[in-house]
Amino acid sequence: MEKQLEDLKTAFCEDLDHIRKPEEIELLRIQYLGRKGRLTSILRQMGTLSAEERPRMGALSNTLKTFLEGSLEEKTRSFSTEAPVSGIDVTLPGRVLRRGSIHVINQVMAEVEGIFHNLGFATATGPEVEDDYHNFEALNLPENHPARDMQATFYFPEGTLLRTHTSPVQIRVMESTELPVRIISPGKVYRCDFDISHSPMFHQVEGLWVEEGISFAHLKGVLYEFIHTLFGPDIPLRFRASFFPFTEPSAEVDMGCIICKGKGCRVCGNSGWLEILGCGMVDPEVYRFVGIDPEKVTGFAFGLGIERVAMLKYGIDDIRLFFENDLRFLSQFSTKGMP
Ligand SMILES: [Zn+2]
Repeated sequence: MEKQLEDLKTAFCEDLDHIRKPEEIELLRIQYLGRKGRLTSILRQMGTLSAEERPRMGALSNTLKTFLEGSLEEKTRSFSTEAPVSGIDVTLPGRVLRRGSIHVINQVMAEVEGIFHNLGFATATGPEVEDDYHNFEALNLPENHPARDMQATFYFPEGTLLRTHTSPVQIRVMESTELPVRIISPGKVYRCDFDISHSPMFHQVEGLWVEEGISFAHLKGVLYEFIHTLFGPDIPLRFRASFFPFTEPSAEVDMGCIICKGKGCRVCGNSGWLEILGCGMVDPEVYRFVGIDPEKVTGFAFGLGIERVAMLKYGIDDIRLFFENDLRFLSQFSTKGMP
């Protein structure tokens, strides 16, 4: 029996060495110290021993039992101090950090700006909170002018407003700069409007070229170059007579539908044409406000909505998608590799 106890101790020490997880400790305890465990079954033989042997074997068994219990306890403690380290599985693949990306509207804005920069236009900016004078009056839109209704305006109590177009930048530049002026003014504009094709905040790029001898032919040349660079060299354009208070004559520009190539589809309302921008020769009345002599110089202006361009370019039919911050939508325009 003494030999059995020694063998049991050796086997136990080996098994203990092989333990790698805390939950294995309890299994080992049951295996050796449980009611049907190996030590218990040896102790059952106690009754067969002689009266002389019994006390010595009893003492040996007790020492072994204490040793087993102590070893198991120590093993348990070793796991609780090792836990933070053993909880890390270094073989797992790393977590991929999701990178941000430039918003599709800013991408299109940068592309549009780039085209005009190549044509010699400089970028000018102005305040988004404007006064009535720069947003309306100096653009030939006096108080009570019916054309003011075309632009549902957000007013502040003190008489200022959120600019309804980027045209006030034209006035500010002409007020403060020597001629010639050749600028674009990109930026946010605001109108009281919200549906599938209108957003209370949207982006415009406005252009202005004022110099001696500028004619409608220059305007057409610049716009053809712009549309052909942005949408392709074979896109036809047509100029329809229109009205804007700050240009005379004025035109709205349509381009051949890029979806159906002019055959007629849902996007172009079966007309084969898509409205893309408004333009015209600067009204001589506007020059009067900024102290420029309309007898000496002429110029043209144009304006377009960036959301409109992005919707046509990517076939998007609801303007609200741009501003709902749904990553499933936005990630389609992810600019991987861009800073
Ligand atoms: Zn079409």
